[in-house]
Amino acid sequence: MLVVKFGGTSVGKPERMKKIATLVQSMPGKKIVVLSALSGTTNALVKMGDFLLAKEAIKVTEEIAALEKHYLSFVAELYTTAPYKAIGQEIVSRYFSLFRLLAAGRFDDRSYRELLAQGELISTELFYYHLQEQKVGARLLPALHFMSIDENHEPELEKISERITPLIQALGNVDIFVTQGYICRNHRNEIDNLKRGGSDYTASLIGAAVRANEIQIWTDIDGMHNNDPRIVKKTIPIAELTFDEASELAYFGAKILHPSTIVPAQKYGVPVILKNTMDEKALGTVISNKGSKGEFKAIAAKDAITVINIKSSRMLLAYGFLRKVFEVFEKNKTSIDMISTSEVAVSLTIDDDHFLPEIQEELEKLGTIEIEKNQTIICIVGNGIIDKKGVLRDVFDSLADIRIRMVSYGGSHNNISILVDTAQKEKALNLLNEGLFHL
Ligand code: ADP
Ligand code: ASP
Ligand code: MG
Repeated sequence: MLVVKFGGTSVGKPERMKKIATLVQSMPGKKIVVLSALSGTTNALVKMGDFLLAKEAIKVTEEIAALEKHYLSFVAELYTTAPYKAIGQEIVSRYFSLFRLLAAGRFDDRSYRELLAQGELISTELFYYHLQEQKVGARLLPALHFMSIDENHEPELEKISERITPLIQALGNVDIFVTQGYICRNHRNEIDNLKRGGSDYTASLIGAAVRANEIQIWTDIDGMHNNDPRIVKKTIPIAELTFDEASELAYFGAKILHPSTIVPAQKYGVPVILKNTMDEKALGTVISNKGSKGEFKAIAAKDAITVINIKSSRMLLAYGFLRKVFEVFEKNKTSIDMISTSEVAVSLTIDDDHFLPEIQEELEKLGTIEIEKNQTIICIVGNGIIDKKGVLRDVFDSLADIRIRMVSYGGSHNNISILVDTAQKEKALNLLNEGLFHL
């Protein structure tokens, strides 16, 4: 079994959706096709939801009308025969009636999540009927029947596997299954999602759940690049990455992959291949257990980091102090990314400052607290790089002009993390590109 995921840009125009339909047919064997919403749709739904919460009724009406126009012209171009054009219009009118219904009712968090799920539901339905029009046998597998998360928002991989396996086995004669990325049910059986960019994660979870031979993630670029192409002009694709390398890059901000994508695939050793829909022949990136050692592979950056510094003379030679600090974060369900300690102080970084006021209040019992926002973690990744001579010299030489706030080295063999002020991120990424990759 192959799992193939197509992102928003890969389905965002009628001709692209047609192209991926042809591409899927050319792939041998059975495959599960995971689709995102058409590009821009989830953003539009977020906007709509925010306007609804703010009770800005006129803006909601305008947003719905603009999106509906977009979908009507999409279906007019996607389908070529009268009966399917009618089906396309019926699909659009059904979804947009639902939007209007949601907008007219009592709009709360739950309806917001229901609204966000519609992008993937509509894209998969449009794609499925396009395959039908082309007389290509396929089945829609509703993700809401098998994808679930627990009360901590963690996907329930075992349960997903137990639910999807019989669904597929019962349809032994079907070669193409189509399902929604991103969406799932939560522990209250409500519609929920795997957070923005979550379709990659869906593909990996399904790949692990069915023990697929391969997970392919098709997007608008020829694989993982050595640096963020949105910020650095000259970047190059990487042919091979280990699971650990890819996992760190995704977690530390490489937008091409949702932060948790690699975890389920790695658990069952299913290779993940990143491919480009705009250039099918490009090699892309293969992520597996194999990979070369001892070289810089790529750099990623994660913004919106907060540093918390705790100063305490009580820390001096006191055992158990860090436990008390960590307990505060555990209690507030906030994970720590970087940590740096001295005899009298400890600095920690967090990316989710939802519970920052509670954390600050509790930490104040342990010492003097200083908070700095707008920080960025720059993560330099390469299998076994920390064992290579002179790596820190190369990194520090490259960043001679940058104020480095924290460094993490030695926690993993694959990564060196540097914390800088977000205002210095662009400069730092460019300097590292020159200094470490000579680009
Ligand atoms: P999709 O809609 O297919 O999920 P995304 O926009 O989520 O696509 O991810 C692809 C984008 O990720 C690329 O267009 C690129 O701008 C961005 N990106 C950020 N960092 C990297 C990187 N290191 N390598 C490749 N792409 C990256
Ligand atoms: N449509 C969702 C988003 O835009 C999920 C995804 O594209 O992966 O975040
Ligand atoms: Mg994405």
